[in-house]
Amino acid sequence: MQSSILVITEHWNGQVDGITYQMLAKGRQLADSLGIGLAALVLGYRLDGVIAALQEKGMDVLLVVDHAQLAQAGAEVQASVIAEAVRQMQPRLVLIGYSLVGMELAPAIAAKLGAPVMTNCVNAEIIDGAAVVTRPLFDGTLHAKIALEDKGPPLVAVQRGATPSVQLPPRTASVQPVSVDMGSIPVRSEVLEVIEEPVSDVDIAKADIIVSVGRGIGDKEKIPMIEELAQALGGLMACSRPLVDLGWLPRERQVGASGKSVSPKLYVACGISGASQHLSGMSDSRMIVAINKDPNAPIFQVAHYGVVADLFEIVPALTEEAKKAKGEVAS
Ligand SMILES: Cc1cc2nc3c(=O)[nH]c(=O)nc-3n(C[C@H](O)[C@H](O)[C@H](O)COP(=O)(O)OP(=O)(O)OC[C@H]3O[C@@H](n4cnc5c(N)ncnc54)[C@H](O)[C@@H]3O)c2cc1C
Repeated sequence: MQSSILVITEHWNGQVDGITYQMLAKGRQLADSLGIGLAALVLGYRLDGVIAALQEKGMDVLLVVDHAQLAQAGAEVQASVIAEAVRQMQPRLVLIGYSLVGMELAPAIAAKLGAPVMTNCVNAEIIDGAAVVTRPLFDGTLHAKIALEDKGPPLVAVQRGATPSVQLPPRTASVQPVSVDMGSIPVRSEVLEVIEEPVSDVDIAKADIIVSVGRGIGDKEKIPMIEELAQALGGLMACSRPLVDLGWLPRERQVGASGKSVSPKLYVACGISGASQHLSGMSDSRMIVAINKDPNAPIFQVAHYGVVADLFEIVPALTEEAKKAKGEVAS
């Protein structure tokens, strides 16, 4: 599979992460434009279910490293194994999702290979034979197109949601084991335990309507105002990351690269600037309404409707109107 595009897959508990399908869609587009193959690499232990889930998802070859040592391997071991597979295969370009996993793996793999790497990208292309990526700068107010040095297979980590996970025409990939000498892989750390997030009945990823709150709210005590609007609209409340970091809302409510990806029919962003890590989790929303005091906030670049105003004036007024529309208050 020399000269193909290689996608590094991500899975947990037998479930393939949606970001993998986005990378496969991007990979197929690049491979077809270059007239080359698309390969995917999956590593772990007892992978039959994952292989079955992936095999017909549009790649030509599914490379597999299935080994007991990979049952709960840390990032360092995974990076070494992936680097070895890439060394053997010499793909034209390696695509990896810019998820919490990809964020850690991409630079580590590149360092082991001495290959160029670019993370947090929103696009990857091959132009005149060179890998060119698009990447946000200054919290998404600018985008730079960057050509990568032609030295080893370039690694590109692409943001969640930057490329849609279109249904690829089914084809049955040939499954090929990759032989990696696990004894030669250095192990300097060990995963002792994996702690699952407590199961919650709030799943913002399934909501049709989301009212999301950002640091512009300024005070934890003001958050019920946003919850009230979410309820009046029949939706759920979500938030940007700083509110989780401050301990104001639980992680299950966080939208973005290190939170959940959502694509509701309506996303109302209140006091959210629109940093690229936030946008990557919600820019697939069908209608985006942004309320922000700053007319230059990057959120307005993705919003279908923008209100340049103080959220403390607009949110209660919207709640009032939503309640009137439902007949909950007299009009
Ligand atoms: C590796 C990594 C992963 C990350 N993952 C995520 C992620 O998953 N999700 C995420 O959200 N972020 C994430 N971030 C953080 C991200 O970079 C931003 O810092 C964050 O999204 C900013 O949140 P915010 O828009 O709420 O706050 P700010 O950027 O501080 O914006 C607040 C906005 O509120 C506006 N405002 C203030 N007062 C009012 C008012 N009264 N009325 C109206 N508007 C007002 C301001 O004009 C401003 O635009 C990540 C960062 C890194 C480095």
